Amino acid sequence: MFDLAEAFSRQSDLIQLTTYENEFETIKSLHTLPKDKQRHFNALTIQLLDNLEQPANKESCAQTSRSLREEGNRVYKSKCDKNAAEAKECLLAACRIYTQAILEAEDALDELALGFANRGMALQDFGYFQQAYDDCACALEFGYPHRLQHKLVMRQAHCAWQLGNVQQLAEHLSILKKLPLNDGYAKQLEQLKQQLEILEANPNNEQLPAIPAVHRVNHKILSTPAKGRHMIATTALMKDELIFTEQAQCFVPIEQRLICQQCAASLLCAPIPCPACHQRVVYCSRNCRQLHAKIHSYECGAYRRNLLSMLGVSHLALRLLVKHLPEWMKQLPTENSRNAKELWQALVYPTTTEDSPSLQSLRMITQLHKAPQEELVYHALCANLLQVYLFSCTSFYEDLKMANQTDWHLVIAALILRNAGQLLVNGHVGNALVIHALPSNEFPLLQPDMWQRPYHLKRGYLHKFSSRELITAINLPLLSLCNHACNPSLRTTFDGCMVNNYAAFDIAAGEEIFNCYSLDYKHSLSEQRQQQLLEIYKFRCDCSKCVRPEADADYFNFHRYRCEQCKQSFVPKVNLNWWQQSDEMLSICCTACEETQQLTWYDQFLQLLERCDEPRDRRKLFEAFAALNTWLLDFNSLKLSLAKELIGGCFAAKDAGATFADYDYAELCKIIEFELAGIAAQRGSNSLQYISNATYLLDMIAWGKHKANAKQLQAMRSSFAFLAKETREIFVNYYNDFIEQ
Ligand SMILES: [Zn+2]
Ligand SMILES: [Zn+2]
Ligand SMILES: [Zn+2]
Ligand SMILES: [Zn+2]
Repeated sequence: MFDLAEAFSRQSDLIQLTTYENEFETIKSLHTLPKDKQRHFNALTIQLLDNLEQPANKESCAQTSRSLREEGNRVYKSKCDKNAAEAKECLLAACRIYTQAILEAEDALDELALGFANRGMALQDFGYFQQAYDDCACALEFGYPHRLQHKLVMRQAHCAWQLGNVQQLAEHLSILKKLPLNDGYAKQLEQLKQQLEILEANPNNEQLPAIPAVHRVNHKILSTPAKGRHMIATTALMKDELIFTEQAQCFVPIEQRLICQQCAASLLCAPIPCPACHQRVVYCSRNCRQLHAKIHSYECGAYRRNLLSMLGVSHLALRLLVKHLPEWMKQLPTENSRNAKELWQALVYPTTTEDSPSLQSLRMITQLHKAPQEELVYHALCANLLQVYLFSCTSFYEDLKMANQTDWHLVIAALILRNAGQLLVNGHVGNALVIHALPSNEFPLLQPDMWQRPYHLKRGYLHKFSSRELITAINLPLLSLCNHACNPSLRTTFDGCMVNNYAAFDIAAGEEIFNCYSLDYKHSLSEQRQQQLLEIYKFRCDCSKCVRPEADADYFNFHRYRCEQCKQSFVPKVNLNWWQQSDEMLSICCTACEETQQLTWYDQFLQLLERCDEPRDRRKLFEAFAALNTWLLDFNSLKLSLAKELIGGCFAAKDAGATFADYDYAELCKIIEFELAGIAAQRGSNSLQYISNATYLLDMIAWGKHKANAKQLQAMRSSFAFLAKETREIFVNYYNDFIEQ
């Protein structure tokens, strides 16, 4: 047995890259080794793919799934002797366990079908009708026992009725009419028939959602010899005005969190897994699964081998290829007798002036030619591995009818390498609000204690959404056209695959629109940024923030201390973020008297943080926080960070049952307001950081422990517009339920 690292290390010993010319020549040198070496090199790839195969044990999957489902059944039934609110908790708890049963079933299809059927029942009872409808369809698809199918069809009819879907209701009723039904079901059928008549007589008059006004075109792409392609504003733009929206054609989930592979939804209540790749791929709905089916057929085997999580940027490079190649191939002239090099040339340098997202992706810049040899070898080996995988484990080559396969081997690997190189400097990461410390295979909407009904939280639970997480690696060719500045003119928000870019400040007509590729000028030292930009993007920044005399002035504003010795204010010369580093020896010195600071107040504060649950200790903690004002000035980053820890600690203590007095609430509110003001100064009051931390204040208001004025409320309410749609619905419901009823 050997793993990826071992295989790559043996393979790199066999190859020798000459001076870099392009991706094609690099891959060619892997494919044209001396005969013996080539045989050995190829065998290593195949052996690796074989080794990574992880067969599932169907019997044990079935057993685990069955016992989970039985546990789910017990929880589901226990609702009968509970009050209404507790019964709802039982329903969600059952959904959660059934979901685990569905995931664990993998390809034990009988169990899978039963898991879906039971979850559908619990989802319907809770009010997730669309998801319940889908679950019934999944149960039928995976072989739910024939003699019981009428139960599921009846449930689908019920859900269709609840959803007001006349066509589906009629369809299911016509199936039911042909089935032998007992008295109970026959009665239900009669009732649903009447409901159908009512629906048909009163077609849903609900207004269709207004089609959003076409955004005025307020930017354009220019191309100049000095700047290359870049974006400018064609009209004056106000702060927070939408500049452009980009629908990503291609993304991959990062880390292990299970999000919808098609639409990047992260708040799933009824995830539908692919049963063949070991619980690594889920969808939010059958519709999304259907839309993604072709792409997944090329990736399923790689997920099953857990290959993709090891390959980093090459996974997105692979998806870019399988998604866009059919379109790229349309650029090829029709005659077939082309060799590999001609194919490559025609694909990579198309003559068309068309500007579809797929062709934009082909034109993104790459810095692979400047990469160190080791990095180049690594990405080339990844590309080669994925090409061999596509050829030997999927139907990719057959589907695209690639005539002369040997030529295509080379071209496909070279295209993956090219995509990877482009994505290294053009790839973006998308974020979402998630529940703090929720394991990656748990789902926020299925946490039993949090929800009163679908998408409506219970009072005091909004702060659960105070964590942000990077969830997607995403290709955005249009955003990639923006040049870099350390004070970006746009602010990017992610709504799954929809990416909105708003003006970060007022922009004049004709001004260039900049994105920021690194941390911005308020979050980093200019020298650190320069290093990073040089290393990854191969340029030095000369934006207005970098060339001014005191380039770090704004950053220093968040690092002011008062000296313990001479009492003067200072910004440390080194170790600005000493408290984030693990090295305990790090310290800071006063720049006026050069005295090393003892920082005893810091250690004392950390000790108090451990004991937020005791009223007496909490009082000391609040006093210690107020005392930090002596040493940490203005919006000192350390003070903001300690505020965050304190707020998180107190809410965790409260969630665990600690009792809070009015004094606690009042102190905590002051600290939350301080933290929010700091975040507003550093990132703006419409940033995701601001909104996620405002959840604490909103919970305080919901509990009646804080009075916000109308202006503050209005500001918070309108900031929800910058959230992803699925999260926005939850926030707006919360606001209407508990803040301004
Ligand atoms: Zn989806
Ligand atoms: Zn799969
Ligand atoms: Zn700069
Ligand atoms: Zn001093």
